[in-house]
Amino acid sequence: MISKTYTESVKESGNYLRSALKNIAKYKLPYNPVSYLLWYEYALGQNKDLIDDIELIFKTNQLLTNDTISKLFKKHITDNQILISGKKIREFQKILAQMTKHLSQSGDEIGLQGNMLNTYAIELGQASSLDAIIEISKHIVLETKSIVESSKNLKSRLDSTVSEINMLSKELDGIRQAAKTDMLTGLLNRRGFYGAMVQAIANIENANDMLSVIMLDIDHFKRVNDQYGHLIGDNVLKILSKLLKDHIKGKDIAARFGGEEFILVLPQTSLEGAYALAEQIRLSLLKMNWKIKDTGKSIGQITISLGISLYQEGESIEAVIKRADDALYHAKNTGRNKSVTEVEIAN
Ligand code: GH3
Ligand code: MG
Ligand code: MG
Repeated sequence: MISKTYTESVKESGNYLRSALKNIAKYKLPYNPVSYLLWYEYALGQNKDLIDDIELIFKTNQLLTNDTISKLFKKHITDNQILISGKKIREFQKILAQMTKHLSQSGDEIGLQGNMLNTYAIELGQASSLDAIIEISKHIVLETKSIVESSKNLKSRLDSTVSEINMLSKELDGIRQAAKTDMLTGLLNRRGFYGAMVQAIANIENANDMLSVIMLDIDHFKRVNDQYGHLIGDNVLKILSKLLKDHIKGKDIAARFGGEEFILVLPQTSLEGAYALAEQIRLSLLKMNWKIKDTGKSIGQITISLGISLYQEGESIEAVIKRADDALYHAKNTGRNKSVTEVEIAN
């Protein structure tokens, strides 16, 4: 019999409601106010006769159909005769209104603000006939169904939005990467070099933290193109790039600065250290035996000239590059196939 109002807090009632909805789903019952009320009452754990009846059904593995629910509802909660009496109608209205509010709140919890359940709860409170109550109950059932549906849709919409965003950010990463990469060699291009160089300078922590720059340029590369063709020239650029990559480590930067000109940036490296690396690279290249794959024909030696400078605190990127470039120019003018530091040309 309905003789009380439900006085649980929103949190408590939310738990009872969830438990009720779970049972409705488990037994594939319709989401209607009769089901809510019955399972809510069961979850509340106070209506002993109702609990006994339901436990018996569980124990004996009877089917829990909508029909069983209606019977249990009539027996333990109310029956139509009682509903018709004005007082009982008001009590039923109140409980249904409370249930509807709970549902509305759980709808809000899953992000479905603005659903109609709250409005129906108010209408229910004002309804003056059983017909009106039944009419409003029907709306509540429809709205509840749509909440259940929307929450599914909402979830799948969210899921697909998340995967779209992931895809987009991957594409953006790809575009960003391509914008700073040299297509032929896979090294940083000039734009990528500037970005990395700005970062390398920002990472300098104190005056003892040295950063060196090596500019290098292939000697008489025009001749290679002229004698063996541009494709062979491209392959020489690729192989040299691989050699440069193999000679650097960690935070070092290798970039194609232009045509057949490359730049290496070496954080935490002195001018002497950079010179040593420059010579290693030059000598490894010197040892290489360049042959055209198809014909086996040798294209002779490929040599490079290198200029080395040390970054001075506070100076511009252009300034340190200019000194490396001047050293490289000096190497070219004094016979090529050599490494020259900025200190040598200062004297
Ligand atoms: P130097 O020793 O003074 O540097 O002589 P060099 O011939 O190497 O220099 P120059 O500046 O006269 O010529 C550079 C050549 O590099 C000319 C150009 O065709 C070639 N080059 C630049 N970019 C590419 C490229 O992407 N592929 C090929 N195959 N050749 C390139
Ligand atoms: Mg050259
Ligand atoms: Mg050049």
